[in-house]
Amino acid sequence: MADTAFDIIIIGSGPGGYVTAIRAAQLGFKVGVVERDYIGGICTNWGCIPTKALLRSADVFHLMSHAKDFGLAADKVGFDPAAVIKRSRGVAKRLSDGVGFLFRKHKIATIWGEAVIDAPGKITVRQAKTEAPKGALAPGAYTAKHIILATGARPRVLPGIEPDKKLVWTYFEAMNPDKMPKSLLVIGSGAIGVEFASFYRTLGAEVTIVEVLPQILPVEDAEIAAFARKSFERQGIKIVTSAKVTKLDKTGDSVTATIDEGKATSQLTVDRVISAVGVVGNVENLGLEKLGVKVERGTIVIDGFCRTNVPGIYAIGDVAGPPMLAHKAEHEGIICVEAIKGLNPHPMDKHLIPGCTYCNPQVASVGITEAKAKADGREVRIGKFPFVGNGKAIALGEDQGLVKVIFDNKTGALVGAHMVGAEVTELIQGYVIAMNLETTEEELMHTIFPHPTLSETMKEAVLDAYGRVLNI
Ligand SMILES: Cc1cc2nc3c(=O)[nH]c(=O)nc-3n(C[C@H](O)[C@H](O)[C@H](O)COP(=O)(O)OP(=O)(O)OC[C@H]3O[C@@H](n4cnc5c(N)ncnc54)[C@H](O)[C@@H]3O)c2cc1C
Repeated sequence: MADTAFDIIIIGSGPGGYVTAIRAAQLGFKVGVVERDYIGGICTNWGCIPTKALLRSADVFHLMSHAKDFGLAADKVGFDPAAVIKRSRGVAKRLSDGVGFLFRKHKIATIWGEAVIDAPGKITVRQAKTEAPKGALAPGAYTAKHIILATGARPRVLPGIEPDKKLVWTYFEAMNPDKMPKSLLVIGSGAIGVEFASFYRTLGAEVTIVEVLPQILPVEDAEIAAFARKSFERQGIKIVTSAKVTKLDKTGDSVTATIDEGKATSQLTVDRVISAVGVVGNVENLGLEKLGVKVERGTIVIDGFCRTNVPGIYAIGDVAGPPMLAHKAEHEGIICVEAIKGLNPHPMDKHLIPGCTYCNPQVASVGITEAKAKADGREVRIGKFPFVGNGKAIALGEDQGLVKVIFDNKTGALVGAHMVGAEVTELIQGYVIAMNLETTEEELMHTIFPHPTLSETMKEAVLDAYGRVLNI
């Protein structure tokens, strides 16, 4: 009979769960991971990875369509939607299989089914609706000294705009569409909404984004969001802010949306709608109420080491609250098991979690926005540098972008960095490291950046904050 006693059982195999499992195994714990649907969670199968594969196809299509700008010829550029989606699904499967391989490598047991916590240290795993992968342990009763909830999140549903998965999509259907819509309404302009808007617009759909707040990409710095908005509008994406979709009327193969813009109400008929109004934590049917685990606003309340209010029960990732990002989930998991081991890790500092949106142009940021800095009463120094002043950006044909840095004027500490433009999702990490090391303006100005690179915009923005900008 299979061994059912573990040191640590993790519920959920997303980026939070699987990375936590590997780190726990490295620390010598006997680890089991319960999963009911897909190894690798949303990130690998229906989130970060397959969207980036789709966006890559869109980028290549865009470049080929603009071949002439580079002195090249590419006639009759087209695309095969089924092949684009097949590639994306293939990339997701490859990564999901990779997580399975890592589990075997680290001798982590996969337990297939739906987990419920009966009491601290005890769980019951029920039969899943999906087929178990080879080698997975069967449903039944399991024990563990520590139970980590990494159950993730699912699409938020708002009244009046409930997804029907046919005409009104969530990200699941948007990623695996039955047909390419000619017209599309995206409700919500957070990272998920904007990435799908970018993908479908690049492939030719008429796209409208409706956002309830006055700004698209609401968590981003207002200036960067405004820059991105202009860029999207130049590409032909229609954007309506401070507006609400109140009703969706479905007819045959189209949907008519009622949009309330405050002073006026309008109607828009489209082939498909994507509801991208956020996600909610998977906190139900886990036995949390019975155990008394504190849940607030749909996510589990944790401390800086991912401990819930019930000893022996921990939570990480999307189910433990925002920002709902894969790298936040992973980092929480590492802190969680290192704390269990007694290694005294640093508690999570949410201020240092970068955020990336892979639309065209890309958006990336870390730390506080200018508005937040001012609201906090900080005296700040701001530096900016546009991509038009960067040789590499011009050589790449990517001269539309902006870098903005925010320093605390008293301490010289870099407290925020905000970027829009080509490859900024790769560049932002430079600032993340700088902020982690509590770097000051002096050190950044003395750092040598390679030429020609897009990264030089990052140094120029720092120089600009101190009146020393060179190339503009
Ligand atoms: C379209 C889209 C694009 C995204 N792009 C990005 C991006 O570019 N970068 C980024 O950082 N983030 C992105 N995200 C967010 C990212 O996917 C999540 O933050 C991340 O997946 C959270 O990881 P997690 O481990 O907390 O949970 P998840 O990845 O959601 O995994 C949770 C797992 O738990 C399982 N589970 C739940 N309940 C049970 C139970 N009772 N028993 C057994 N198993 C259970 C689920 O089946 C699931 O596999 C994106 C999300 C979406 C939807």
